[in-house]
Amino acid sequence: MSIQENIIKASHLINMDDIVREGYPTLREVAENVTLPLSDEDIRLGEKMMEFLRNSQDPVLSEKMGLRGGVGLAANQLGILKKVIAVLVPNDPEVDEDGNEIAPTEAYKMQEIMYNARIISESVQEAALEGGEGCLSVDRDVPGFVVRHARVTVEYVDKNSEKKKIRLKGFESMCVQHEIDHTNGIMFYDHINPEQPWAVKDGMLVIQ
Ligand SMILES: [Zn+2]
Repeated sequence: MSIQENIIKASHLINMDDIVREGYPTLREVAENVTLPLSDEDIRLGEKMMEFLRNSQDPVLSEKMGLRGGVGLAANQLGILKKVIAVLVPNDPEVDEDGNEIAPTEAYKMQEIMYNARIISESVQEAALEGGEGCLSVDRDVPGFVVRHARVTVEYVDKNSEKKKIRLKGFESMCVQHEIDHTNGIMFYDHINPEQPWAVKDGMLVIQ
């Protein structure tokens, strides 16, 4: 049974054992575009990846399944060389009249399964997340600004096989660039300046 066949079985939930770590070849390989219209197998793969992200952000399930919380996952991280990524960015909690944090009206800021995603245009301005980045395939801290494009326009195919184009900024922009990088064999730390990891380049936006 292929990796994908195993992962898309109805009874299977993606867990940390399915996620390959540094040193595994697919993390350094360029994935192939999926064929269109999407096959059932590729649709189910995307759904399983999204389900994993939801489970990884659920305090009870993630504890029970031993999952690290994640906001994005690429098929390369499952050992599958197909351009499939899932992104799930939760909204910040809201504050009620008494100043208590409550669940946001909309649970997610971004929730998207993206096939054959590619950046078609990018800002000259650069940006990085304030605390650096992490990765489910990297079991160590790699400190430093991961310098990316502040804004990108991404073209992709959604789960209904429809072509989409979105413009991203802020955290979502960083997250989608991290995942598209995976499909091209690029790791987040490739974008860290090894000499001065926390140097703020001219005009670089630091995203909190
Ligand atoms: Zn990653």
